[in-house]
Amino acid sequence: MSTATGKTALVTGASRGIGRATAQALANAGAQVLVHYGSSAAEANSLVNEIRALGGQGEALQADLGDPDGAAMLSDQVRMIVRDRLDILVANAGITKAAAFEDHTIEEFDRLFATNVRGPFFVVQQLLTLLGEGSSVILVSSLAARAVPGNPGQAGVPSFPAYAATKGALDTLVKHWAFALGPRGIRVNAVAPGVIATDMSSFTRTEGGRDLTLSMQALKRIGEPSDVADVIAFLASEKSRWITGVILPVDGGSKL
Ligand code: NAD
Repeated sequence: MSTATGKTALVTGASRGIGRATAQALANAGAQVLVHYGSSAAEANSLVNEIRALGGQGEALQADLGDPDGAAMLSDQVRMIVRDRLDILVANAGITKAAAFEDHTIEEFDRLFATNVRGPFFVVQQLLTLLGEGSSVILVSSLAARAVPGNPGQAGVPSFPAYAATKGALDTLVKHWAFALGPRGIRVNAVAPGVIATDMSSFTRTEGGRDLTLSMQALKRIGEPSDVADVIAFLASEKSRWITGVILPVDGGSKL
């Protein structure tokens, strides 16, 4: 039997990148997967069709998690589908902003915190009554929360101070939620990916971006979405039953 057979899972931002690979990994493990998306309906529906074609169960759900009502909209839809039980909640949706510190605007800062921190905060809050003994919550943090990627200050090198701060906030929430929800049997962990080849890290498609990335890492290749998805699937599974409150680097040994 697969590790997630009979389980229900929600993955936010699952239309592409790390979220898509995670939804695929959980579906392959046997879970019914709720494929959340913000605006890419076609990509989300194609993933659901792919999951069903392989004999799995999937549904696509839309909500803008940067919007104050987004979390409540999403949780209403989740409740309609799973009724009373959510086993796996992966808060993956996020945005980034690469710019010099001097060039960050208040609007961009607020949008980053709304999407990357307020969104997951209220998604977990709204879905709490569906979580119970054995449920696993996984947040998607970042290497940027514990170290400075790249070499900001040099010409052309991006910097992510506000984005990094949103991920630092998630790392804090992991500890608080793990402690508060542990007595109910709910585990809360995060993965902290390094640079992963997705639309968000499109600089890996340039020679300079690739060289910079490899110079930070012990392992000399660019990380793939499935490298992160497999670890999320482990944290979602019974195999990680004694792990909670952990922020697990998934970064090929970056910035050691
Ligand atoms: P991506 O841009 O390919 O995917 C992000 C997903 O989030 C998309 O599906 C997007 O639609 C969704 N999303 C963004 N804003 C949304 C909103 N307001 N409402 C609903 N959905 C929204 O990027 P990715 O690399 O797959 O990123 C996934 C997660 O991994 C993010 O939290 C990101 O911060 C984190 N991460 C990525 C990297 C990397 O190098 N790619 C490194 C560390 C952490």
